[in-house]
Amino acid sequence: MFALEAKNINKTFMDGKNASPFHALKDINLEIHFGEFFVLMGPSGSGKSTLLRIFAGIEPAYTGERVLGAGLSQKDISFVFQQFALLPWLTVGENIELGLLERETSEEKRRERVWQELKIFGLEKFANHHPHELSGGMKQRVGIARALATDPKIIFMDEPFSELDSFTGDALRQELLDVWAERKVTIVMVSHNIHESVEMADRIAVLTKPPARVERIIQNHLPRPRNMRSEEVFRLDDELYQLIKP
Ligand code: ADP
Ligand code: MG
Repeated sequence: MFALEAKNINKTFMDGKNASPFHALKDINLEIHFGEFFVLMGPSGSGKSTLLRIFAGIEPAYTGERVLGAGLSQKDISFVFQQFALLPWLTVGENIELGLLERETSEEKRRERVWQELKIFGLEKFANHHPHELSGGMKQRVGIARALATDPKIIFMDEPFSELDSFTGDALRQELLDVWAERKVTIVMVSHNIHESVEMADRIAVLTKPPARVERIIQNHLPRPRNMRSEEVFRLDDELYQLIKP
């Protein structure tokens, strides 16, 4: 059972810096399984963000097919952005409520849902704060809480931890893994951080330079919670490094 299937996806930018079209993605075929933690890696500029946007249904211009799994629709999808993308004029609570506005008509239910997410992410005290009053880690907690509030089946994340310092990132990665395990949501995440990918992923797809193909899919069967200082982890780190190094 797949949550998302990509069949022969190709993407060419016609509006690039060069006069000629730029072939970014070439014949991408992938299946994302229900409930898995799937990570996309590859050199900078290899088309990871572009592919993620195509997967998420927010990039309409491509050829090939993007098929959502049985019973899924665009409403079952959420997105977490690298730079948080919070609306600065709204409070934390209102930001988390955003995706619920078009789905949940009763204000009481929306409030309840927002409150649940605030509690899970330790944000209760910040409900009425505005984004500019928060640290980066807290902003991304809001970004993730907002994505989860609509009870999505698939969450797409584009380098969600890369703007955070390493301690903040560690804590938030752990929180995300807990939520992922508990809610059985499917996560597709772009990362350029090898160790992070080994910590989180069930499978890692490595893209080549453009025109990007899937170079390799690495299975990560290491038991969870993972001992990130174990020999097996360092071996996987190294395998990925050899694939991705410039
Ligand atoms: P990644 O996320 O792997 O760093 P991107 O998906 O952002 O890569 O971009 C892939 C390639 O497509 C890059 O070489 C980039 O320069 C090019 N590209 C991205 N967006 C556009 C655009 N709007 N117009 C032209 N070229 C673009
Ligand atoms: Mg990118």
